[in-house]
Amino acid sequence: MARLYPIEKYRNIGIIAHIDAGKTTTSERVLFYTGISHKIGEVHEGAATMDWMEQERERGITITSAATTCFWCPGDYLKKDRTNEYRINLIDTPGHIDFTAEVQRSLRVLDGAVVVFDGVAGVEAQSETVWRQADRYHVPRVCFINKLDRMGASFEKSLQSIWDKLTINAVALQYPIGQEADFSAIIDLMEMKAVKFEGEMGKDVIKSEIPENMKAEADKWRNKMVEKIVAEDEALMEKYLNGEEISIDELKSTLRKATIGYKLVPVLIGSSLKNKGIQLVLDAVAYYLPSPIDVPAIVGIDPNNEEVKIERHARDEEPFSALAFKIATDPFVGTLTFARAYSGHFSKGGYLINTVTGERERIGRILRMHANEREEVDEVYAGDIVAFVGMKNTSTGHTLCEEKGLIILEKITFPEPVISIEVEPKAKADQEKMGASLKKLQEEDPTFRMETSQETGETILSGMGELHLDIIVDRLKREFGVETNVGRPQVSYKETIATNSEAECKYIKQTGGRGQYGHVKIKVEPLERGKGFEFINDIKGGSIPREYIAPTEKGIKEAMEKGVVAGYQLVDMKVTLYDGSFHEVDSSEIAFKIAGSMALQDAARKAGAHLLEPIMKLEVVIPPDFLGDVIGDVSARRGQIEETTDRPGVKVVYAKVPLSEMFSYATSLRSLTQGRGTSSMEFDHYEKVPGNIAQEVVEGKRK
Ligand code: GDP
Repeated sequence: MARLYPIEKYRNIGIIAHIDAGKTTTSERVLFYTGISHKIGEVHEGAATMDWMEQERERGITITSAATTCFWCPGDYLKKDRTNEYRINLIDTPGHIDFTAEVQRSLRVLDGAVVVFDGVAGVEAQSETVWRQADRYHVPRVCFINKLDRMGASFEKSLQSIWDKLTINAVALQYPIGQEADFSAIIDLMEMKAVKFEGEMGKDVIKSEIPENMKAEADKWRNKMVEKIVAEDEALMEKYLNGEEISIDELKSTLRKATIGYKLVPVLIGSSLKNKGIQLVLDAVAYYLPSPIDVPAIVGIDPNNEEVKIERHARDEEPFSALAFKIATDPFVGTLTFARAYSGHFSKGGYLINTVTGERERIGRILRMHANEREEVDEVYAGDIVAFVGMKNTSTGHTLCEEKGLIILEKITFPEPVISIEVEPKAKADQEKMGASLKKLQEEDPTFRMETSQETGETILSGMGELHLDIIVDRLKREFGVETNVGRPQVSYKETIATNSEAECKYIKQTGGRGQYGHVKIKVEPLERGKGFEFINDIKGGSIPREYIAPTEKGIKEAMEKGVVAGYQLVDMKVTLYDGSFHEVDSSEIAFKIAGSMALQDAARKAGAHLLEPIMKLEVVIPPDFLGDVIGDVSARRGQIEETTDRPGVKVVYAKVPLSEMFSYATSLRSLTQGRGTSSMEFDHYEKVPGNIAQEVVEGKRK
C-alpha cells in the first residue's frame, strides 16, 4: 500500500474566530463547496459504505466532528484535473481560547489557520485573544473578513483594525465591489479579475474583467500588495525596483514563504452567508498555508530517559507517531480517539503503544470523517488525521506509537488544579445526569477534576482557573442540557513546613477489656516545592513490628490531607519513622494509625507549618494608553511585574500574581481599558502566603 495523496498536498487547518464572527457558516460552506464534485468512493476504491452512513447522509452535512476531511483543487472549480487535488483536514477548534490543555492541543495539531472576522466589528477583544494564542503556538494563518454584506460593514476599517490591533504585516489580496447590501463581487488583486459567485449556493465561480470604474482603486490596492510581498525577497525587490514585471507565480511563492515564516498574513474577504468568497479562501489555504512538511519536525522525549530529546519528521519511513487530541463518543461506533499522525505509517490490525500509560492496544478499525460520511481506512500516514475506534485507556494528549520507535510527543505534567467551585443541578432530577456528564468532560480534559464530598454529598469541580471552570459549567448546559447553580470560587491553598523537627506520640488507652497501644517517633523535613510527600521507614531492630508500619504511614498520610493550619493539604515534606514501641496484647493497626496521625500533626506544627497559595503567570495585552493603569492595578493585587514588551500597536505586561487576588480579573480589565485589554493566566507555582493574609485565610475571612 502506498499513500494516496502526496504529503505536500495536505493542509491540516482550523477555522478560528470569536463567537458570532461566522465560523459555523464558513465551515458549512467549505464542506458544501468541497463536497460538490467529490465522491469519496471515486478515489478510494472499496471504501466501505455502511448502513449508518445512509442515515448520516439524510441528516445532511454535519460539522460536529473533531476533524473533517475534504478535498479541493485550487483555481479549478469544476475539478477537471484531479491530479492537483489537495486534502484539507478541517480541525475543530474550541470557541474559547485560553490556557487549558484542550486549546493548546487543538492549536498544536494544526499546521495553519483561517481567522474569521466580522466585517462590521473588525477586530474585537476576543479576536485579539485568539490571535495572541495563535502567535504563541506559531500557527501561520490567513484572515477572512466576513459579513461584508452586512449593514455597517467596511473592508477598509476592518483591515485597518487588523493593522492597528493585530499585525502590520497583514496584506490584502482582494478588494470588494460594493459593500453592505451592494456587495456583489470580489476583485482578485493577484490575477486582477473580478470574481462573481453564481448558481446554487454561489457554486459557480465566474471570473471577468474588472469594471472600468473600479480599475484605479484596484491598481492602488494591487500596488500595496505587491510592495509588501516583494519586500520579503531581495531578488524580487530588485526586479521590482528595476521596473520589471513580477509574475503571479513569483508573487504567490514569495507570499507562501512569508506566510509560513510568520512574516506576512494574507487577507481575504467575503460573505459566508451570501455565498461569496469561500472558494477563494480555500484556494488561499492551498496556496499559502503550510503542509506537514513545511513546518518544523515535532520534538518529543524518550520514555525511558526524559533527558533525551527525539525528533520525528513528517516522513513515511520514520517510526509511526501520533498525538491523540480529542476523545469523542459516537452513537454508532463507540469511542473515537482522534489523532494526528506526525511520522511513519501504521496499518489496522496492528498494535500501538500508548507511551503515557505504557499500555499496548490493538487497533481493529480506523475511520476518517468526511462531511457526510465516514470512511474506513486501512492505513494511516504521516500528516493524516484519523479516528481510532474503541481504544480504552487513551486520553487527550497521549502519544501513540510503534514498539520500534517509542516517543512521548508531549510531556504530560498536568499541574494540580488551583481553583474549585461547588455545583449543584438546578433541577434535583438532574443529579445523575450531571455526574455522568461531568465524567465525560473529565475524560476529555485531564486538567479538570470532579469530586463528591463524602461528608456533604456536594459536587466540587476543580480546574486551572476561573475561565476554565466557567467553560465546563457552560458546556454542561449547552452540550448536556444540565443547568447548575454554582458557588463562589475557592482557591486551593496548600500547607507545608519550614524546618526540620521531630515528634513522638504514645497512644495508650486502657478501657476495661483490651487496651490500645501505639508508639511512634518521627522526623519531618521540608522538600523542594512540587516534590509532594516521601515516607521513609527507618525502623531498626523491630521496635515496631512490620505489620504496624503501613498503618502508621496511613495515619500520617491522612493527617497530611487535613493539614494543621487551616485544613488544607500538607505537601512537600519527607517523613521518617525511626523508632517506637509496641505492646504484645494491646497494640493494633488502629492504634498505630492514630499515633502516626497525631505525631505528624505535632511535628508539622513544631516545624513552622504555614500556608501556600497558587501564583499565576499573567499576560495582559493592552493599547499603550492604559499601561500605567494596568500596572498599578496588578501591583495593587500583590502582583510582581516581570516584563513589559511591545507588539505592533500594543503593550504586553507579564506578571506573577496570587490567584486569590485575580477573581473576575477579565471583567475588571475590560472596564479599566474600555474593553480593549485582553489577558490570559496560567498556573506557575505555589508560594508562602504573607502573614496578614494567611491570618485572614485561617480565620475564614478570605476564601
Ligand atoms: P460562529 O458563532 O462564529 O460559529 O458564527 P455563525 O456562523 O453561527 O454566525 C453567527 C451569525 O452571523 C449567524 O446568525 C449567521 O447567520 C450570521 N452570519 C454568518 N456569516 C454571515 C455573513 O457573511 N453575512 C451576514 N449578514 N451574516 C452572517
